[in-house]
This record gives sequence, structure tokens and C-alpha cells, in this order.
Amino acid sequence: MGFVSVLTFAQRLVAERLQPGEPAIDGTAGGGVDTLFLARASGPRGTVYAFDVQEEALARTKERLRGQPDLARVELLARSHHEMEEAVDASHHGKVAAVMFNLGYLPGADSGIITLPETTLPALDAACRLLRPGGILTAVLYPGHAGGDVEASAVEQWAGSLNGAELEAVTYRFLNRQGPAPYLIAVGKR
Ligand code: SAH
Repeated sequence: MGFVSVLTFAQRLVAERLQPGEPAIDGTAGGGVDTLFLARASGPRGTVYAFDVQEEALARTKERLRGQPDLARVELLARSHHEMEEAVDASHHGKVAAVMFNLGYLPGADSGIITLPETTLPALDAACRLLRPGGILTAVLYPGHAGGDVEASAVEQWAGSLNGAELEAVTYRFLNRQGPAPYLIAVGKR
């Protein structure tokens, strides 16, 4: 049996930790796949915050959620993920079970809008502060597009320099695929 994709693996890591009713964050709503996943896992008593700077992404996400039963309350936020601490309710600070990032650009939309290390790294730091003990952050990195390689290296360096007594960092990566394949970095709060 083949190994699951990095996107599926990220969801599995989150599913093991996120309990019904717990708050969660999608740092890059994009097409809404992870937002829907988080909203199902958090369920009707939960809250999911979904960030994106592109209207097209928020529209796609809204469409994907439409008519789905038993979802968490989803807040679609048209602002950058590096501002997540301002946007997330104070009662959820230190209580967030999962923060997911799927970096790069949104396929089929404006490919000039890419996530950038200047905002991605502050967003990752903010996410770590918002997590509860035992919570998880996932970031799928795309080294294949211009700028994506620089961002992936920056995130890898960021994760490698975290204080291991507080935050554990791991990676899931296909080592022998053609070309620069996406890969995952996950950080767990102790
Ligand atoms: N590369 C993935 C999709 C990533 S979508 C794939 O191929 O499947 C990444 C999303 O991040 C886009 O919708 C983009 O608009 C959004 N984004 C870019 N900068 C952002 C920021 N500062 N804050 C929040 N979202 C951002």
C-alpha cells in the first residue's frame, strides 16, 4: 500500500488530537478542504477560524461548507494569518487544539498571491502561542514554485530552532519523487 499524501497525513495528525468542541484554525483557507475537515472534527459545539487574504479563496471555502451538516461555527476572516492573535477570541487563547497551514498559491486563482516568509513566520509563532498543551500545528510546504523554495527553507529553519522542551518538530516527506514535492512540517506543543 502506498503512503498517504502529505495533506492526508496532516489531517490524520490533527484528527488524533482535535476533540469535539475544541477551537481550531485554518491559517490558509484556500479551497476550504482543511476548513471543512476542521469544522467536522470540531463539530457543532466548536469554533473554526479560517484566514485568507484572497476573496476568491474565502468564496470557495464558503461554498464548500454550504449545506454540510453538524459543522462547527466557522469564522471566515479576510485578513492575514500573522494577525491571528487579534482575530481569535481571547477565551480561545491557549485552548486551540490545531492550526493548519497549506502554503503557496491557490490553484486556479491568482498565482501571484503566494504566502511569504515575512508573514508566514510570524503566523507560525502566533499559532504556537495559541495552541493548548498537546495541540498541533501543521504546515504543508511547496518548494516547487518561485519563492516557495525560499519559504520552505525558512519554515524548516524556524522549526529546527524551536525550543524542544516546549515544542516538538517533525517532518513527513517523500524522498524519491520526481521534482520538488510538497512536504509537511508538524509542531506539537508539550
Ligand atoms: N499550494 C496549495 C494551496 C495553497 S492555498 C495547493 O497547491 O493545493 C494558499 C492560500 O494562502 C491562498 O488561498 C492564498 O490566498 C492564501 N494566503 C496567502 N497569503 C496569506 C496570508 N498572509 N494570510 C492568509 N492567507 C494567505
